[in-house]
Amino acid sequence: MTDFDATRAMFHLPEGVIYLDGNSLGPLPRGAEARVAKAMRDEWGEMLITAWNKAGWMEQPRRVGDRIARLIGAEPGSVVMGDTLSIKVFQALAAALALNPDRRVILSDTGNFPSDLYMAEGLVQMLGDGYELRTVAPEALEGAIDASVAVTLITEVDYATGRKHDMKRLTDAAHAAGAVTVWALAHSAGALPVDLAGCNVDFAAGCTYKFLNSGPGGPAFIYVAPRHAERARPALAGWLGHAAPFDFEPSYRPGAGVERMRVGTPPVLQLVALEAALDVWEDVTVDDLRARSLELSERFIAGVEAACPDLALASPRDGAARGSQVSFRHPEGYAIMQALIARGVIGDFRAPDILRFGITPLYIGTAEIDTAVRILGEIMAGGLWDRPEYRTRAAVT
Ligand SMILES: *Cc1c(COP(=O)(O)O)cnc(C)c1O
Repeated sequence: MTDFDATRAMFHLPEGVIYLDGNSLGPLPRGAEARVAKAMRDEWGEMLITAWNKAGWMEQPRRVGDRIARLIGAEPGSVVMGDTLSIKVFQALAAALALNPDRRVILSDTGNFPSDLYMAEGLVQMLGDGYELRTVAPEALEGAIDASVAVTLITEVDYATGRKHDMKRLTDAAHAAGAVTVWALAHSAGALPVDLAGCNVDFAAGCTYKFLNSGPGGPAFIYVAPRHAERARPALAGWLGHAAPFDFEPSYRPGAGVERMRVGTPPVLQLVALEAALDVWEDVTVDDLRARSLELSERFIAGVEAACPDLALASPRDGAARGSQVSFRHPEGYAIMQALIARGVIGDFRAPDILRFGITPLYIGTAEIDTAVRILGEIMAGGLWDRPEYRTRAAVT
């Protein structure tokens, strides 16, 4: 059994704060502070540019990718780190389209994260030639997979509601129709069991600053199924994805396998922070994490529904259809969330009316859930959110 008291002790959690926003930005793993400081001093400070060889900076995106692979059911050597999720979605989409050259449609759903859709829009505009992005309601996705679809672009867990798509089922449906699949794992990696190889997924990408706790600006990862890795065209052909970066050839030749998805210089210090953050997972099984997440989520839903009749559950009630977050709707959601944050319970708000709470068993337990429920209940019962200062929108909500 995973020891969640042990994992909690590995995080710095500010005094007096209940953090229910690890689905947006994970907290600081204690180990990361020391590791980054050491890398700055011993590697950057002392080794200077020789650290690219001596400290293994050049291989770091693949080394870390292999550690992520373990958490998402990916084959060793199929994952590489770099850039942001938006960029990796672009690369995966472009590569997937090129594998299905007779078709023109990218199929996604209206619940997808806007940046993924914007990336697809930009790509189809750039390609011209009849390419289009088609979006349907999340429930209509499976029925919309037909012989015109080149690529499905699906985020497994809806960022707003936590609704979870069935990866195996939709991947099978896409393949049956001759489509290539791209999955976004932003709210999946580190949140629930993912089995990319078992589901026969073609491409996937995810970020690490949410449930994997790499810190603000932590790099994304991209997965390319080994069967495509030697054919996939990365679209963004950068020198570190070249077969021989230090030959400085005038023309691009793709690197071996997933290495070709690298673009430019990796964010070494962020990757060091991520390596330390991944140490937390050494003795964690994702199945234990999932069981604990469901237990805490049910407790939170039951508590909030009992204490706050005005809040409407926006997440699926069935745990199997939900990621590792719980969302509620209220027309004054923004002000309510500000009032909660003022009382030390940090969640976030997603327009137009969603209060979002990340359930992260690595450092959240029943005591935090119960206190959060109590405080939310007090705020709702007393109308304590109804103050002008709680209605003023900040740039980041
Ligand atoms: C959080 C999130 C992103 C963020 O992309 P970045 O480029 O890392 O800022 C993209 N897609 C999805 C599905 C997300 O949930």
